Amino acid sequence: MDFAPTEEQTAIFDMAYEFGQAQIAPHAHTWEKDGTIPKELWPRVGELGFGGLYVSEESGGSGLSRLDATLVFEALSMACPSVAAFLSIHNMCARMIDAFGSDALKDRVLADVVAMNTVLSYCLTEPGSGSDAAALKTRAERTNEGYRLNGTKAFISGGGYSDAYVVMVRTSDEGAAGVSTVLVEDGARGLSFGGLEDKMGWRSQPTAQVQFDNCEVPAANLVGEEGKGFKYAMIGLDGGRLNIAACSLGAAQIALDKTLDYMGERKAFGQSIDQFQGLQFRIADMEIELQAARTFLRQAAWKLDTKAPDATKFCAMAKKFVTETGSKVVDQCLQLHGGYGYLADYGIEKLVRDLRVHQILEGTNEIMRLIVARDMLKNR
Ligand SMILES: Cc1cc2nc3c(=O)[nH]c(=O)nc-3n(C[C@H](O)[C@H](O)[C@H](O)COP(=O)(O)OP(=O)(O)OC[C@H]3O[C@@H](n4cnc5c(N)ncnc54)[C@H](O)[C@@H]3O)c2cc1C
Repeated sequence: MDFAPTEEQTAIFDMAYEFGQAQIAPHAHTWEKDGTIPKELWPRVGELGFGGLYVSEESGGSGLSRLDATLVFEALSMACPSVAAFLSIHNMCARMIDAFGSDALKDRVLADVVAMNTVLSYCLTEPGSGSDAAALKTRAERTNEGYRLNGTKAFISGGGYSDAYVVMVRTSDEGAAGVSTVLVEDGARGLSFGGLEDKMGWRSQPTAQVQFDNCEVPAANLVGEEGKGFKYAMIGLDGGRLNIAACSLGAAQIALDKTLDYMGERKAFGQSIDQFQGLQFRIADMEIELQAARTFLRQAAWKLDTKAPDATKFCAMAKKFVTETGSKVVDQCLQLHGGYGYLADYGIEKLVRDLRVHQILEGTNEIMRLIVARDMLKNR
């Protein structure tokens, strides 16, 4: 058992951290105000190999492990968790195409996906089904040329912004076994978008409904086999959950780092506030909690990499634990900044808002508990 990152892993983390601090952090506040991330950023991210982190090397990706990928997301979130989480969704979709798509589909789209000339969104949730995702209603009827889609996807990160959408659709009435995955490219006839959602956090990412009104999709855009789409979507989510947890971890770490600096500068009652033992205990607790979260996350990623039978349970446990720890830590950091923590200039209130949604998406933290409890009851 070795808990130390390898030299290569340290280099990956450092590269992501430096890129984030130079290219993302200085703009995070402006992009949040603008409600969008400039599209020009993505090819630069692609050049680092971050557009296909765990797309296989044969398909032109970086072929990294899930553990390596969590390092990238932890480091990038230290610049902006909203931007980092958006990249995680793109990577989840890229991997689904690489793992399950036909050679023809991969040959046609993956090079641009990996280079991030094509940015991808993941479309599972619908207005009437979120946690109960297998109840999705968006229909894909067979036509001579492929499929005709009708229905609406809700809360789609990158809706109206992305270049293509990995969409879970119903091709038959057999519950989860009736779900298939198709790639819908921007500009497809019958594809439209709802208005931008006004959100608490992740404000630099556009979120919108994605609507299909007799939307024609060629048969070649089916990802994998008909009826397996729900399975693909869930497999994608195991890694997605690790990444979201890593985003909470990185953001909480930068908040704690900033808080330590601030506490050394801020004076009250004739001394810097880092001299109050009550506050020292709080920073110690945060350090302990973040280190525990980091170790747990890396163990879960290692389980996924080594295809351990309990990998899904560990991904769910890590997602729940790390996202809740992350939110607790950033909230405490805001408190230790006093009134200044509440002001946008100090960068902490944004992290409180950005991290809150990590407990809701990629499966809510209640659903994470459900996954864990089911596994425990099955194995008793
Ligand atoms: C900013 C943002 C971005 C998003 N991006 C995407 C995206 O890109 N693609 C995508 O497909 N989706 C996306 N989502 C949707 C997200 O995945 C869903 O919101 C989430 O899965 C929860 O679904 P819901 O909102 O319908 O809540 P519901 O499923 O209606 O849940 C409501 C409450 O009931 C609880 N609950 C539900 N079932 C159970 C149960 N069996 N036991 C105990 N508690 C339960 C939930 O935990 C929750 O607290 C995004 C959401 C947000 C807010």
